[in-house]
Amino acid sequence: MTGAPAVLVTADRAIVAPAPGDPCGSVRGPTAVLAIDGAIAAVGDPDDVAADPRAVGAHRIAWPHRAMVPGTVNAHNHSFQSLLRGIGDDLPFLEWRDRALYRYSPRLGAGDMATAALFAFGEMLLHGVTTVCDFYYLNRQGNEHASATIDAARRLGIRIVLARCFYDWDGAPEAYRETIPEAVANFEALARRYQDRDRFLTAIQPAPHSQHGASPAMIEAGAGCARDAGVPWHIHLAEEHYQVEQSLERFGARPLHAVAALPVDLSQMIAVHGCWFDAGERALLAERGAALAYCPGSNMFLGDGVTDLVDLVARGVRVGLGTDGGCSNNRVSVFDEMRTAALLQKVHRTDGQAIDAETCFALGTRTAGEVLQLPIGRIAPGYRCDLVAIDLDDPSLWPVQALEKNVVYSLSPRAITDVVVDGQEVVAQRRLCNVALDEIQARVRELTCDWHD
Ligand SMILES: [Zn+2]
Repeated sequence: MTGAPAVLVTADRAIVAPAPGDPCGSVRGPTAVLAIDGAIAAVGDPDDVAADPRAVGAHRIAWPHRAMVPGTVNAHNHSFQSLLRGIGDDLPFLEWRDRALYRYSPRLGAGDMATAALFAFGEMLLHGVTTVCDFYYLNRQGNEHASATIDAARRLGIRIVLARCFYDWDGAPEAYRETIPEAVANFEALARRYQDRDRFLTAIQPAPHSQHGASPAMIEAGAGCARDAGVPWHIHLAEEHYQVEQSLERFGARPLHAVAALPVDLSQMIAVHGCWFDAGERALLAERGAALAYCPGSNMFLGDGVTDLVDLVARGVRVGLGTDGGCSNNRVSVFDEMRTAALLQKVHRTDGQAIDAETCFALGTRTAGEVLQLPIGRIAPGYRCDLVAIDLDDPSLWPVQALEKNVVYSLSPRAITDVVVDGQEVVAQRRLCNVALDEIQARVRELTCDWHD
């Protein structure tokens, strides 16, 4: 890195990681964070942190009348789907798939993928997302598309996990499909080029698509690549009820049990959705140390069902929140998912105390970091310096005494003013710092102007 390696960020309040055994101790008054080379080195009272010898000559970022909160972590997304927002909404899944997804996605080239990524990730940054996991299946038997997506993330300054898909179902467009040797070779080449084990700005993780998108051998190959690379692997499981029926029919077992019967390491698995996991599957997730990417907004939008999040959290399963694609939600805000997760669980159990704001805040920040196995999601020494500033003068946060509750339940996206990723400003005063929104808008307009519902 060139330039000043130290950054000092100050704000009037902060939500920091709670001390062990002190669940209510996470909201602080005036707070400073010192970051060195993108990693948090100190957190504390502004005078104390400024007196740290390492803060001499630091670049200073001051957030008066604002609170700093950890950058949010979007554990599941498909960036190109932002281009399909509004096209095919309110249709049955198979009709949406054929009229929107399968119609438009195969025609997209690498430049279009960059446009989609700038659009999806740019909008996410403005909503306070500092890490996005892009579950990426439009690979066209190569890495050109994934590379264009990663390069777009780098341009914007957002942290990315590229979950490279392993897909071999021959009912899908050819652009999605690969042979097992192709998928393995392409994954390894992408990881060699981009895996960043220093600053973690780009992580490459394998993602066998699902039981319907990947054969058992393909799932095994993806999990094998994860084992070899020492990273987790992602798979859509039990999103819709028919997928349970299909799994029982094809494999004689429910989805998680069918996957568990393969020679794969469940402790490194990130299941996506899991709306229809039964008690036995939820117990197995906990027992094997598997994780879940939970997408309540998408599950509601598509009418998929309700994952028993309360039970999973009680069992100690690591859960992170995801927005899913821009055409199945249709929002890209993890703060919004925190609220949605809480409300959906409360109504599902007809119990207003089913889950609380603090738990949902953690699911969108620190436990999502644990799910992706990255040092992110906490304002604490040793973690990457990913911060979001929210405007305490915004009425959606008044009165400010119960800040964490208000961030989850009442925060307006209008209140998000500034975003820092790895110690670098990427949103300042509600504007992207590195790419003009006008450029993104022009590219999206040109690409989609003749797309119709
Ligand atoms: Zn998905």
